Amino acid sequence: MSGAPAIESLGVREALDAALGAQYILAGDDIGERYRADIIGKYRSAPAFLAKPATTEDVAAVVKIAASHDLSITMVGGQTGTCGGAIARDGGIALSLERMNRIAEIDTISMTLTVEAGCILQIAQEAVEKEGAFLPLDLGSRGSAVIGGCIAANSGGNRVLRWGMMRDMVIGLEVVLADGTVVSSLTKMIKDNAGYHWKELMIGSEGTLGIVTKAVLRLRPNPLTNQTALVALPSFDMVARLLRDLEVSLSGQLSSFELMWGEFFELITTAQLAARPRPMALGHPYYVLVERLGGDSLVDAEQFERVLADQIEAGVIVDAVVAKSENERQALWAVREDLRGGFDPLQPCSVYDVGMALVDMPTFVTEVQHNMEAAYPGAKLVFYGHAGDGNLHLVVSVGKDRAGNEDDIDRVVYETVQTVGGSIAAEHGIGMSRLPFIGLTRSEAELALMARIKQALDPQGMLNPGKVVAL
Ligand SMILES: Cc1cc2nc3c(=O)[nH]c(=O)nc-3n(C[C@H](O)[C@H](O)[C@H](O)COP(=O)(O)OP(=O)(O)OC[C@H]3O[C@@H](n4cnc5c(N)ncnc54)[C@H](O)[C@@H]3O)c2cc1C
Repeated sequence: MSGAPAIESLGVREALDAALGAQYILAGDDIGERYRADIIGKYRSAPAFLAKPATTEDVAAVVKIAASHDLSITMVGGQTGTCGGAIARDGGIALSLERMNRIAEIDTISMTLTVEAGCILQIAQEAVEKEGAFLPLDLGSRGSAVIGGCIAANSGGNRVLRWGMMRDMVIGLEVVLADGTVVSSLTKMIKDNAGYHWKELMIGSEGTLGIVTKAVLRLRPNPLTNQTALVALPSFDMVARLLRDLEVSLSGQLSSFELMWGEFFELITTAQLAARPRPMALGHPYYVLVERLGGDSLVDAEQFERVLADQIEAGVIVDAVVAKSENERQALWAVREDLRGGFDPLQPCSVYDVGMALVDMPTFVTEVQHNMEAAYPGAKLVFYGHAGDGNLHLVVSVGKDRAGNEDDIDRVVYETVQTVGGSIAAEHGIGMSRLPFIGLTRSEAELALMARIKQALDPQGMLNPGKVVAL
C-alpha cells in the first residue's frame, strides 16, 4: 500500500463524490484538524480524503472504492482513544460516521437500544434515560466518544465492575467488511448460540477487521437511587477488603470503585481549588470513590451510610464523605474525572492504561517505581484507576529527560507489566502507540492467530493498517 497520495486520486475523488455527494468528501488541507491529529498530540497524518457517509450503503460504497484504488480506510470516531488508533495513513481515507448518529429505537420491553455508530455516547445515554431505561456504559470521554468508537475499542469505564465492558452490552451488530460486504445481525436476542459469534471478533478490533455501522445495545432498568461517597483508607489491603465487603453488603449493587493514590488526590484537588473546595483532607495513602446504584428509595441511603459506618468501625475506612445532593455527587466525581490542569506540575508526562489482577497491583506499583527510578532518577509516578476491574492508570514524569525517550519510558512500564502477567492495554486499545509492545502481553501463538484473522478478513490490509497487528 502506497504511503503517498494516490496518483489516481482524481479518479478516486470523482468516484467518492458520485457515491456520497461532493459536499461530504473533503480533501487535503480542507480536512479539519480533528481528523488529522490525536488528542495526546503524539500523532498527525495527512489523509488524502475525509468521507462522511450517511448510510451503511454509503460506507460500503466508500470501502469498495478504496479497495479498487488500493487506499487504506481509517475510522475516526470521537478521537478520544489516546493510543493513535484513529489516525489515518498519509494518503489514505479517513471515514467519519458523524452523519450516522441516529437513534433508531429504544425498546423498553426487550430493553434494547438500536443506534447508529456515529451517535455520541452521552446523547445515547440521555435518550435512553428519557425513556426510563439505563445504558450502563460510562466514560469520562462520554461527551465526545461515539458508539462505534466504544465498540471498536471495547470500552470499559466507571461501571464495568457491575455491568461489564462494551462487549457485554452489544447484542446485535452491523458491520461493513473490507470487501464492502454488509453483515447485519441487528438482533435483540440475548441468547443465540447458532454458530460462531462473529460480532465478538469485531468488538475491540479497533477498526482493523470491519467498520461498525449500527448496533443493538442491552439496556437495564433505570436505577432509582444513587449513593456516592469518597472514602480514605490506610493501606492497599484495606482497599481490597473494602471492595469485597461492599460487593457483599450492598447486595451486588456496588457500581463504581475508583481508586486514587494520595499523590493523585493531592494533584487533582489542588488544581481544582479555585472551582471547588477539597472534599477531604490530604495525607491518606488511598482514596476511593464508591458508588452504589440501587432500587429502593426507602432504605438504600440509610443502608449505604450504615455499611460505611461499619467499615469505619472495623478500621477499613479512616474517613468518609457521603454526597447529600446531585451537586455534591458531581463534585465528588469531579475529583476522579475532571483532570484538567491536575497533571500540569508533571508535564511533560506519559499516561498509561494497564491491567492486572488486583492481587498484583501493589507489587506492580512498587516495581514500576523502582524500575523507573533506576532508568530515570527522580522520576515521578502517580497512580489511579478502575481498581474494581484491575485497571490501573499511571502518569509518569521524568522531566526534561522525556524528550526522545518516550518509547523507552513506555518500555520500562510495559516490561514491568509483563513481570506481573498483566495487560499493556486494559481499555484504551493498542492503536499505534502500543503496537511495538504487544508481544509483552500476547504470546507468539496469539499474535500469529491475530495475524491469520486479519489476513482472512482483510487480505489487502486496507482497514486501519498499522494498528493492533503488525502486518
Ligand atoms: C478523558 C478520557 C477518559 C476516558 N475514559 C475511558 C474509560 O473510562 N474507559 C475506556 O474504556 N476508555 C476511556 N477513554 C478512552 C476512549 O474514550 C475510549 O476508548 C472510546 O471508546 C473511544 O471512542 P472514540 O469515539 O473517541 O473512538 P476513536 O478514538 O475515534 O477511535 C478508537 C478506535 O476505534 C476505531 N473506530 C472508531 N469508530 C469506528 C467504527 N464505527 N467502526 C470501526 N472502528 C471504529 C478507530 O479507528 C480507532 O482505532 C477515555 C478517554 C479520555 C480522553
